Amino acid sequence: MATRNVVILGSGCSGLTAAIYCGRAGLRPLVVEGRESGGQLSLTTLVENFPGFPEGIQGPQLIENMRMQAANFGAEFASGDVIEAHLGTRPIALRLEDADKDAEPIYTESLIIASGARARWLDLTSEQALIGHGVSSCATCDGFFFRDKDIIVVGGGDSAMEEALVLTRFASTVTIVHRRDEFRASKIMLDRAREHPKIKWVTNAQIVEVMDVGKKEVTAVKLQSTNNGRAPWVMPISAVFLGIGHVPNTQAFTGQLPADADGYLLTRDYVHTQHAGVFASGDVADRRYRQAITAAGTGCMAAIEVEKYLAHHHG
Ligand code: NAP
Repeated sequence: MATRNVVILGSGCSGLTAAIYCGRAGLRPLVVEGRESGGQLSLTTLVENFPGFPEGIQGPQLIENMRMQAANFGAEFASGDVIEAHLGTRPIALRLEDADKDAEPIYTESLIIASGARARWLDLTSEQALIGHGVSSCATCDGFFFRDKDIIVVGGGDSAMEEALVLTRFASTVTIVHRRDEFRASKIMLDRAREHPKIKWVTNAQIVEVMDVGKKEVTAVKLQSTNNGRAPWVMPISAVFLGIGHVPNTQAFTGQLPADADGYLLTRDYVHTQHAGVFASGDVADRRYRQAITAAGTGCMAAIEVEKYLAHHHG
């Protein structure tokens, strides 16, 4: 298989922006889409803060537009997650999951890691057992199944507020369960949630068990106070949605790239990693802003750096 100029890992906002720039530079980028194709924007509803859309735009539509724009400039797409990456060799070798054991790796002169982040879970055994049976991290995907039911959303940030607001379209009530009584959510999102008649609040509490694993459906949760010795109590409920943040997708690079305690890749000079020709952009390297527009911005920077790197090293 011929060595590619550049492979972009991730097909979210950052990867696709990088693909548009690399495509326009004539580099015929290969975008490895990952299992969660389209990234987090494809799981969201109305995006109101991406410049250029005064009425807002649906997240999946925004992603589809970017994908078409990248394809128009010659970007190619492959599906599947990268499970092995040899960043120190030249060309860089990548192996995709599900690839035939004897299949050749993908070889590339340069790499943009824009693999994003995935939803964080509470990591309770009962929660994990009930994923897909009333436990979810995507209101837009699964809210529909809980029409006229009582639902919990866990978290105190913008994700939790957004999930809760989406779920009010379906549910009878949405109770936000947060482990503190102060919120990370922006004022505008918090106010919207506070003003919604279907949204209720349980603060200073955390879920310690989701029931009923035996029945393979969510019937209740066991809650525990985080600020007093009150005995744990049971709250009947039909579904639990997690909105407690994200974990960067860096499994394929463990030990090869420096990362912070939560796994976010550490870059220098915006998008450079310690390996020449390997760049990181978007949420995988950004624990601070994590916005569509910042992910697009760093995707653009990574593509410009790739262009410079290839011109310098390969004429
Ligand atoms: P976040 O701001 O980090 O908030 C995560 C929340 O989950 C926090 O309230 C945290 O509690 C809670 N949490 C974390 N681990 C927990 C655990 N194990 N058990 C219980 N609670 C836990 O993450 P986010 O809400 O995903 O937002 C990330 C970024 O994306 C932010 O910059 C946000 O503004 C942005 N965003 C924007 C929008 C929008 O504008 N429409 C929508 C979604 C996200 P503590 O507060 O106690 O730590």
